[in-house]
Amino acid sequence: MELLEERIRKDGVVKPGEILKVDSFLNHQMDVELFNRLGEEFKRLFADRPINKILTIEASGIGIACIVAQHFHVPVVFAKKAKSVNLDGEMYTTKIESFTHKRTYDVIVAKKFLTEDDHILIIDDFLANGCAVNGLIDLIESAGATVEGVGIVIEKGFQQGGRILRQKGIRVESLAIIESMDDRTGEIVFRH
Ligand code: 5GP
Repeated sequence: MELLEERIRKDGVVKPGEILKVDSFLNHQMDVELFNRLGEEFKRLFADRPINKILTIEASGIGIACIVAQHFHVPVVFAKKAKSVNLDGEMYTTKIESFTHKRTYDVIVAKKFLTEDDHILIIDDFLANGCAVNGLIDLIESAGATVEGVGIVIEKGFQQGGRILRQKGIRVESLAIIESMDDRTGEIVFRH
């Protein structure tokens, strides 16, 4: 998506450790007009899928997922990072390793919000090694619901997450795919 690539080139900052900082428009300060364009594009890409719910993970996925959901006219559920897992049987739980924080979280969704009748679109800001998306798929499968697809704003194509998900037959649509980036020069190359 040209508009998004231009914005990443203009405002993205490449950090050491293969981190792209986009906190001026995506995951700290949020450009809601841009999110709306991303939502339009996801709707176009997944128009053939019977999506009735969007699933994301807190925190940075929530804002994007909410604007995207307005284009699908469906609710958003966000998986919560739990400090302690309450094993009362009312929650689906999984573990997700955070790429940016290098720690593992227990992540939960209430069973009442994810059922076998659900056809889910997963939305997240970044795809790196795929831990977050795989954790969300695990929750969806625990509920017997269907993964209709995965919509990602920025995929770092030089990390393995996207390749592994596509090899499993999961439909992954990323609005920008970064082929390479260099924290010394700041250069970002996109895959087309
Ligand atoms: P994964 O679970 O695919 O390894 O990493 C994806 C998650 O880590 C995303 O939810 C995102 O919050 C965070 N993340 C991964 N790479 C980056 C990055 O380069 N920049 C930022 N801002 N977040 C990232």
